[in-house]
Amino acid sequence: MAEIYYDDDADLSIIQGRHVAIIGYGSQGHAHALNLRDSGVDVRIGLAEGSKSKAKAEAEGLRVLSVADAVEEADLIMILTPDQVQRTVYAESIQPHLTTGDALFFAHGFNIRFGYISAPEGVDVAMVAPKGPGHTVRREFEAGRGVPALIAVEKDASGNAEALALSYAKAIGGSRAGVIKTTFTEETETDLFGEQAVLCGGVSQMVQYGFETLTEAGYKPEIAYFEVLHELKLIVDLMIEGGIAKQRWSVSDTAEYGDYVSGPRVIDPHVKENMKAVLSDIQDGTFAKRFIDDQDAGGPEFTELRAKGEAHPIEATGRELRQLFSWIKSNDDYTEGQVSR
Ligand code: NDP
Ligand code: MG
Ligand code: MG
Repeated sequence: MAEIYYDDDADLSIIQGRHVAIIGYGSQGHAHALNLRDSGVDVRIGLAEGSKSKAKAEAEGLRVLSVADAVEEADLIMILTPDQVQRTVYAESIQPHLTTGDALFFAHGFNIRFGYISAPEGVDVAMVAPKGPGHTVRREFEAGRGVPALIAVEKDASGNAEALALSYAKAIGGSRAGVIKTTFTEETETDLFGEQAVLCGGVSQMVQYGFETLTEAGYKPEIAYFEVLHELKLIVDLMIEGGIAKQRWSVSDTAEYGDYVSGPRVIDPHVKENMKAVLSDIQDGTFAKRFIDDQDAGGPEFTELRAKGEAHPIEATGRELRQLFSWIKSNDDYTEGQVSR
């Protein structure tokens, strides 16, 4: 059983004695910066020239500097720009200003795991990865709770990197919920697999196929939307509360029996073979290279795939329906930076 750390296992005074630079002020960046500040930690934000986030950070009373100046001032640098730009920001504006005794922190192991970033001698390399979107990390903290987090140490130059990571996790609320120790390799590979095979890729594709199957058979798109997308949240909430077993306990016997006989027909053993192939592409770096090569070319494949996803008929149906829902407010504001893409 993995060891889980809570508030009592972490010493907040360690991070309170450091000078932290948060690079990037997006989904994770704003949450880490504000939670650290509210935990009594000295924080500054590093952003590129002309950054759109600058005004938002300043409106919260945070000090915004260039990335280079923020790194220069700080002795703990948390990199929270999108993964695909981290290596350029690192090479140009972070590495030249690192000195012995500094700590380089990440919220996802991608760039270290796939060798796009390597830190100089004498610098701690660690990870504090909240297992939730940044906006939840902030909201839960403000409510006196926290989002569980993973910590990992890639390089323990100081001999205290783990205690430092745990202290950071406490300051952003992670150890209120629970902190689990992992490695950069395990976090990166399982995170990519989870989002590709199940959470984002798998679920999205399954919802689209379900919607297509019903509408192609002549059922109304609005009804199809409710059955294959809207109710998903209710089912997932039950799973989170009590596992798949609680979900099966709560639904009707008809639904439970249908789950047993039709689930394995839809998600047949080929799907597991496909998942293994996806995992293998993650482990050997094929996925990372494809993503970064596309990004370096300006993201043509990414842009095309995003447009294709947005053009799926389920999106138009959902947009219309959600306008009519009195109980879900302004969900379609997400493009205004509400939710990270
Ligand atoms: P975002 O896409 O929300 O980050 C955007 C921020 O980065 C903005 O402030 C943006 O500035 C800034 N930025 C973009 N390019 C540069 C640059 N070249 N130099 C300086 N700043 C730049 O990132 P996320 O919060 O989604 O991800 C950050 C890290 O956290 C990643 O490693 C990710 O894997 C990890 N993570 C993310 C989670 C999430 O909830 N999204 C969950 C757990 C981990 P501007 O306003 O100018 O565009
Ligand atoms: Mg991820
Ligand atoms: Mg039903």
